[in-house]
Amino acid sequence: MTVTEELVSYEDALAAYDPVMGLEVHVELGTKTKMFCGCSTRLGAEPNSQTCPTCLGLPGSLPVVNATGVESAIKIGLALNCEIAEWCRFARKNYFYPDMPKNFQTSQYDEPIAFNGYLDVALEDGETFRVHIERAHMEEDTGKSTHIGGATGRIHGAVHSLLDYNRAGIPLIEIVTKPIVGAGSRAPEVAKAYVTELRELIRALGVSEARMEMGQMRCDVNLSLRPNGSETFGTRSETKNVNSLRSVERAVRFEIQRHAALLASGGSVVQETRHFHEDTGSTTSGRIKEEAEDYRYFPEPDLVPVAPSREWVEELCSRLPELPRVRRERLKAEWDISDHEMQSVLNAGAIDPIVATIDAGAPADQARKWWMGELARRANEDGVELTALPITPVQVARVCALVVEGSLNDKLARQVIEGVLVGEGDPDQVVDKRGLAVVSDEGALGTAVDEAIAGNQAVAEKIRSGKVAAAGALVGAVMKATGGKADAARVRELILEKLGVQS
Ligand code: ADP
Ligand code: MG
Ligand code: ZN
Repeated sequence: MTVTEELVSYEDALAAYDPVMGLEVHVELGTKTKMFCGCSTRLGAEPNSQTCPTCLGLPGSLPVVNATGVESAIKIGLALNCEIAEWCRFARKNYFYPDMPKNFQTSQYDEPIAFNGYLDVALEDGETFRVHIERAHMEEDTGKSTHIGGATGRIHGAVHSLLDYNRAGIPLIEIVTKPIVGAGSRAPEVAKAYVTELRELIRALGVSEARMEMGQMRCDVNLSLRPNGSETFGTRSETKNVNSLRSVERAVRFEIQRHAALLASGGSVVQETRHFHEDTGSTTSGRIKEEAEDYRYFPEPDLVPVAPSREWVEELCSRLPELPRVRRERLKAEWDISDHEMQSVLNAGAIDPIVATIDAGAPADQARKWWMGELARRANEDGVELTALPITPVQVARVCALVVEGSLNDKLARQVIEGVLVGEGDPDQVVDKRGLAVVSDEGALGTAVDEAIAGNQAVAEKIRSGKVAAAGALVGAVMKATGGKADAARVRELILEKLGVQS
């Protein structure tokens, strides 16, 4: 590992240089079986329990293409506005690595299934940036190695390594952008927005859950700088396997600052792969890659070419779901919110839960309020996605209904949500168990108000003489007496009524 890299400030870097990016995203498809054999793709199985002669590359075994894998690739291509190849082949990418038992990866080389597309991505301020797509091709994942005995978990310093081939052969789609130019100082934001949009798209297509934290979607970030005004691209670095949206943004930013320092001091950028470190937000040198590696690609002789009929492609095109950007525009209008608010909902991963909550009967503003407020906070604290919280949209909708009908105020609703989250049951059960319904019984409320007036004669006198604002103190007293279970607005009305003041 190199010592700390020299950096220049982000502003200084951008004052002198123009960033060019290239993003390569791998998506693990959610097919039931692997790309070229019938082995299960289920996660969490005993190591090496989901393998066969084909995915282990044993002599004499023959691969067969997974039709669902091809269909998913075409759907992704179509959603990315790509052309779909009429005929294309797989190719062998030859190299040795212990996690790849065949000694070659079955991939696509000069004949990708989809090419020449674009994806429009939404930036924070509602502006749209078009990212051009070079290609989307089919390939397979490698196995997983675990290095034992070293301090870092990396191979360096390890005593021995374990290999699990369950992942070897799981279908991957690699989506490669054309060089992204013109983003300027917004390059980190554009990179993050692109990966976010791509993730939403993949999920909408139903071809993968695209959970970055589980490695189902990973991004390689290529970056180079050129002097402002120059046409030719500089030398790029390639930061591998960046595993979260935030890290994509940080990796771009860091590399801009690092490249700028090198260039400004008269040095040059080495073409190499780099590793991103979540803890420091920095990258360190990996493998030097000055010349293109020679993988001795050749067409895979054991697989027939893929030749999707135009009818099939058209049918898939006609069955594409509403794409995320279009859907967001529609929801933004329906919910009557700003670009910025919609962006926050997107960033929080809250669109689907909110829609499901509305579908379960909640008013849009209520659904949005709870998912973006209390629940987003909880998810954030626990470091999980919103959808991983142990509460369902139906339960949130019930909380909303109780608030709307006046049985719960916001404070009580938060407690109900808390109860659901810790496993006390459905909202109604939590209300019962914790005795959380607001005191709406007018008799009980009236008594509480009378007591508050009696105990605060001076305040009551002020209110009688027209200082309506002083009612707050009495409302507070009633809320305290009822353990926060009263409807504050109604309490205020009662106080003013009893003191003979018009509100
Ligand atoms: P490799 O196999 O070496 O990773 P690819 O062509 O598959 O090469 O991917 C390189 C990625 O980097 C693409 O997204 C491409 O658009 C982008 N790219 C190519 N040249 C540059 C450059 N000079 N600066 C930044 N990005 C680049
Ligand atoms: Mg690459
Ligand atoms: Zn297999």
